[in-house]
Amino acid sequence: MDKVFLFDTTLRDGMQGTGINYTLKDKIEIARRLDETGLDYIEGGFPLANDKEAEFFRVLRREPLSRARLAAFGSTRKPGNKAQSDAHIQALLAAETPVVVIVGKAWQLHVETVLATTAQENLAMIDDSIRTLKKEGREVIFDLEHFFDGWKVHPEYSRSILKTAHDAGADWLVPCDTNGGTLVSEVDSVYKALAGTGWHLGAHFHNDLGVGVANSLCAVENGARQVQGTINGWGERCGNANLCSIAPSLSLKMSFSVGLDLGRLTELSRYVSEKANMIPDRRQPFVGEAAFSHKAGQHADVIQKAQDLQVPGFTRGGMMEHMDPSLVGNTRRILLSELAGKSTVAMKLGKFGTYDKNSKEVSELTRLLKEKESAGYEYEAAEASFELLVLKVLGRYERLFELDNYHLESYKTWDRDSQTVGRIFLTAQGKRSMGASVGVGPVGVLDKALRNALEASFPFVNSLTLTDFSVRVLNADQEASDSRVRVFISWTDGITTWDTVGVHENIIEASWQALVDSFEYYWLVIFQAR
Ligand SMILES: [Zn+2]
Repeated sequence: MDKVFLFDTTLRDGMQGTGINYTLKDKIEIARRLDETGLDYIEGGFPLANDKEAEFFRVLRREPLSRARLAAFGSTRKPGNKAQSDAHIQALLAAETPVVVIVGKAWQLHVETVLATTAQENLAMIDDSIRTLKKEGREVIFDLEHFFDGWKVHPEYSRSILKTAHDAGADWLVPCDTNGGTLVSEVDSVYKALAGTGWHLGAHFHNDLGVGVANSLCAVENGARQVQGTINGWGERCGNANLCSIAPSLSLKMSFSVGLDLGRLTELSRYVSEKANMIPDRRQPFVGEAAFSHKAGQHADVIQKAQDLQVPGFTRGGMMEHMDPSLVGNTRRILLSELAGKSTVAMKLGKFGTYDKNSKEVSELTRLLKEKESAGYEYEAAEASFELLVLKVLGRYERLFELDNYHLESYKTWDRDSQTVGRIFLTAQGKRSMGASVGVGPVGVLDKALRNALEASFPFVNSLTLTDFSVRVLNADQEASDSRVRVFISWTDGITTWDTVGVHENIIEASWQALVDSFEYYWLVIFQAR
């Protein structure tokens, strides 16, 4: 099997994404996680940029990655300089990484207008920079900026850049689609034109046309053996090519070998989301929550029937899914909706044991579900609340605590902005405790006060993060006095994500239900299983 090297630039190009910011600690933790999951190269950043970047390399020098090769990123020397005395090149060497990525201009227009130098000097800069880094024993990856635009106007110059870099000793030549405007057909013809050169080619694509992954796969089909991209596809503008789609496609669909432990891919995707403080994209291919979801009814029925079917080429349930979700660490989800019949409910119960669709458990759960749904609960996007309902029906549910009372008070005075104070009295593990909090929003205050009251008995409560909160008014068309709201809350502990729901006329009480469900779900289902 041919090996394709995966080059992760989550911590360099990925940092250019809107809303993405990592602390030094985050960067180090992400690098370690990428390393453990089996990425071949990890680009850590630009050591000359600032102190945080330089410190990142210092930390990893003291405690190196175990498997992945760490790369520092920079550019070729400046026009007219010597690489030996160029600040960029010196900073790259000072980072003491085994791999150095240098970017050079591959579009004559940019050479002349941005660098304000000649095409010839650009070649000399590339040659000199690469030779200097090679002399110091580095593996050199040469990124060719705006390669595809340059190729359109002046393919011979593009070739001479590639040849110069190759002859200077670059280990990898990586054409970059820097502005993301290249089509798959163009990628196909460029890589075909370069076939037979014997050069080690890579691929670096952006997603401005929505084809970053397709372009990367096309490059590999035509001989590229290194793919640069980011986890979750985050990066400048519309993002970089998404490694979470590329890695499984290469391995499971195209029979290439990738070093990545694919079974941990979903976990890795969510871990990086958590660090970036971004809500995981449910619809992301392979690793999204919805990637292997099926609504009740026809689809679920087919999957049920396919469960035990052994057909070559199909995995369990493969008649409605393009692959077995467990191969990427994801899970199949059967969604509940008003359409849910007894056979869907029986299938949902499968996680907890084998229940016939005519069993009393299935009948009771179906009844309860209908009752809850008519009250406004919706479990399709709140699996955790649903599972608690299942535990109740099966007699396996246990309260985390007994509430005595909660009390919230919001106030605003002539000279101060609105504030909320909250108190909770409850009994957990036989001990009475009180929690209190002050803040602005009542739901946040309620959440903190509850954690405060529970933390002595259940320290895990402080490791859970609320990632999304949404509210919908259910019967806005009726008189305001009896309109109900439905609250959805998404949670994570950095590994698993789950969602809960609450419904009430009072938004605080609806939120309370979703909060309590979350802590109980974590305790009864996730925590106990670990
Ligand atoms: Zn890029």
